[in-house]
Amino acid sequence: MDSFDVIIVGGGLAGLTAAIHLKLKNYNVAVFEARQYPHHKVCGEYVSNEVLPYMAFLGVLLPRTVQINKMLFSTVNGKTLKAQLPLGGFGISRYTFDNALYIRAIALGVFVIPENVTSVEFENDSFGVFTASGKKYTGKFVIGAYGKRGILDKELQREFIQKKSPWLGVKAHYKLDSFPDNLVAIHNFRGGYGGLSKTESGAVNFCYLVSYDSFKKEKDVDSFNQNVIAKNPYLNNFLDNAEMLFDQPLAIGQISFHKKKPVEEHILMCGDTAGLIHPLCGNGMAMAIHSAKMASESLDVFFRNGSVNRHQLESDYERQWRQMFSRRLWLGRQLQRALLNEKVSYMAMGIMAKSPYMVNMLIKNTHGQLIECE
Ligand SMILES: Cc1cc2nc3c(=O)[nH]c(=O)nc-3n(C[C@H](O)[C@H](O)[C@H](O)COP(=O)(O)OP(=O)(O)OC[C@H]3O[C@@H](n4cnc5c(N)ncnc54)[C@H](O)[C@@H]3O)c2cc1C
Repeated sequence: MDSFDVIIVGGGLAGLTAAIHLKLKNYNVAVFEARQYPHHKVCGEYVSNEVLPYMAFLGVLLPRTVQINKMLFSTVNGKTLKAQLPLGGFGISRYTFDNALYIRAIALGVFVIPENVTSVEFENDSFGVFTASGKKYTGKFVIGAYGKRGILDKELQREFIQKKSPWLGVKAHYKLDSFPDNLVAIHNFRGGYGGLSKTESGAVNFCYLVSYDSFKKEKDVDSFNQNVIAKNPYLNNFLDNAEMLFDQPLAIGQISFHKKKPVEEHILMCGDTAGLIHPLCGNGMAMAIHSAKMASESLDVFFRNGSVNRHQLESDYERQWRQMFSRRLWLGRQLQRALLNEKVSYMAMGIMAKSPYMVNMLIKNTHGQLIECE
């Protein structure tokens, strides 16, 4: 098989979700994924409960895992704010989450092709998709779900790729049984912040985002932990008592939070490929899954309804995507800016500590509702 209704580049949460959805509607779908399953990914691993009804609709079996309904936030010097999470979420490793979607996709008969896509060309109302092994596949549509940044972004000359992306993400799992099951904690440190929450295995995931400027002053992760992260008393306590379960932390660089376009060169972009919300909001995974649903539904309408043309499909998807996510992304940018300014974050915490209503509004506005399914 080398010709498909829809080719999906990238088999993370967005790509696999779209593949399952489209396969359930009987379309001929292929997903190209460069890495083997299962694999760990740099991620905070807190998933908003908004995805649960949709996961059930897709028939994705998730393991029993911890339900998280409380948030703790601390500034560099340990001033704290506690909040209840209105909708809440669950803790699950990407190792398990992505793999559960992969298993479902395979069971349905989705072609998951273990290849790196190196270029995509649109010609005569159809796509040619080229892989590192030199093969060519054709598709009526292509969904771009290849994550934060990739070779195709350069090829497509996307605007964000020309700009600086001065962020680094680091994560590892730790053993610390005393860490509460129902808590996601976000702790600030100079130049970044880290999230702590439990996963399905009982391990605590510690994932942080830091600017290069801050990180490069130290020689490696260990000295960064000691000299910067441990200045926050909560993180100091965590690092003192927790035992790392990975041989070494995973790291990714050049993380960009710049605006991106949800459709480029006729490719429907989903998940981080369309736009990445600041991790502090804990909503990137839900957005990836939700955008995949929106793209799949738009494609289904196109295939079933002869009167919709490609141009209408693309502009409908773009409009829906902006309506659903632009505000969340904007608020995420403002929050991160405030958080990383020591004085502003200290002041804002003082105000918010006195106004649970305001905290509630911020959480609600950086999250969505339960994703509806038909
Ligand atoms: C530090 C940090 C912490 C975060 N914490 C949270 C959190 O706690 N909660 C939350 O909801 N979100 C969080 N996020 C955001 C979340 O990780 C992303 O939004 C989510 O992973 C997006 O999924 P995706 O499917 O779009 O991309 P990905 O999961 O990155 O999947 C893309 C896939 O495409 C594959 N790929 C790439 N290029 C190619 C190619 N050319 N050919 C074939 N395959 C390719 C990759 O191997 C990858 O598997 C965090 C992000 C960061 C950076």
